[in-house]
Amino acid sequence: MSAMKYYIWTSGCQMNVADSRRVASALEQLNYRPTARAEDADVVVLNTCVVRRSAEESAKGRIGSLRGVKEKNPDMVINVMGCLVGVNGHEELAKEYPYVDVFSPPSDPGPLVAYLTQDKTKEYQREATSRRFAFMDGDLALPAGDQSRLVSAFVPVVLGCSHACTYCIIPYRRGVERSRPLGGVLNEVRSLVSQGVKEVTFLGQIVDRYGLDLPQKTHLTNLLHKAHSIQGLERIRFLTSHPNWFDRDLMEAVAALPKVMPHIEVPNQSGDDEILKAMRRGYTADEYRSLIGEIRDRIPEVSIATDLIVGFPGETKEQFRNTYRLMKELRLDVTHIARYSVRPQTVASRKMVDDVDPEEKWRRFRLLESLQEEISSEINAEYQGERVEVLFEGWDRKGRWRGRTPNYKLVFVDAERNLRGKTLPVSISWAGPWSMQGRLISDQHRTSTPAAG
Ligand code: SF4
Repeated sequence: MSAMKYYIWTSGCQMNVADSRRVASALEQLNYRPTARAEDADVVVLNTCVVRRSAEESAKGRIGSLRGVKEKNPDMVINVMGCLVGVNGHEELAKEYPYVDVFSPPSDPGPLVAYLTQDKTKEYQREATSRRFAFMDGDLALPAGDQSRLVSAFVPVVLGCSHACTYCIIPYRRGVERSRPLGGVLNEVRSLVSQGVKEVTFLGQIVDRYGLDLPQKTHLTNLLHKAHSIQGLERIRFLTSHPNWFDRDLMEAVAALPKVMPHIEVPNQSGDDEILKAMRRGYTADEYRSLIGEIRDRIPEVSIATDLIVGFPGETKEQFRNTYRLMKELRLDVTHIARYSVRPQTVASRKMVDDVDPEEKWRRFRLLESLQEEISSEINAEYQGERVEVLFEGWDRKGRWRGRTPNYKLVFVDAERNLRGKTLPVSISWAGPWSMQGRLISDQHRTSTPAAG
């Protein structure tokens, strides 16, 4: 009898990518095998995102597209998981999508495992159910498709968020902040390294708050130091930081630990104090400016990425200009820009009017985007002719090898042989705003101790 097949569709953030990998791992432990088309699968998992209205609409569109497939194949099991489901029940969704078999909260393969093993013996179920939280204690068997292919892995360390930014739906869908036990995280890193992974990225909505809620309180710096001593692990990254929690200890750890990459993701969201107050971000534009200054003083080779929202309720042209001016002044490496969209349950949806015209939101988005393109082009142009250390992760569609520098710059190289998982010196021959092209300087594989850039 041929193996049962599964298909996973993932949208959204790195956390969802990591969660889908856990679901794939759990399904493969139940002897399911991956397939490339939903129509050919026995189990279909849709891992959803609702951080923007457009993401929610695409998730609902994807669920809707399966109604006909299910009618043709009634035995197919459909599992909808992630932030569309959330942690506070799914009665409404179940009414809207009666043909969906299982609804799972974010980061939890449990309901699907329990559903797929329900006709098995109680013992098997108990054993399978206990396995569902295997990732909590860290022994993550990579899905077949990732084994000896996955070079860089996301490792969630803080689930949920207890901050209450007025525009953000995440606390309502992923629940309050809870850190994974330190031992479980380190086990997972060791398990990933033993399966060929060279780089891990520790994930959290506010990753800097890792461990503060644990019975035995710990700190992200402690996790970084402990992970740093794991043999075979070459690079460590973490995201996403928050200006109020990215402290001096973390700066010191990034500066002192060679395996911890000098790239910081710290969202600003706005450059105007009134808007930051209405967003309940908890800092001012000046405080953000001085934080960036301090990070650059302490980690001179650092690269910094941020997030910005344009068109927040009430944002005037002058307030938007404050954001524009601040980004022009700070010259950060990367800015992820989003147009404000109303999210259900949030304070902003209940107390503020979405009064910035959609065309005006686009105008502000395009202005910031072209400013950032200019800044990134100028910053990356400085790499021209420079030598950088690149950890190669895989191929791109043009058959070129793709990898990242310590500063998270995307680099492409032409090479005949397998560079996967190798850290090699590259001379940059071309640099654009979003990526670079280079030539291998030598094919002697290097480990950790990154050179500049
Ligand atoms: S810090 Fe704010 S924006 Fe980030 S996940 Fe938490 S509530 Fe959302």
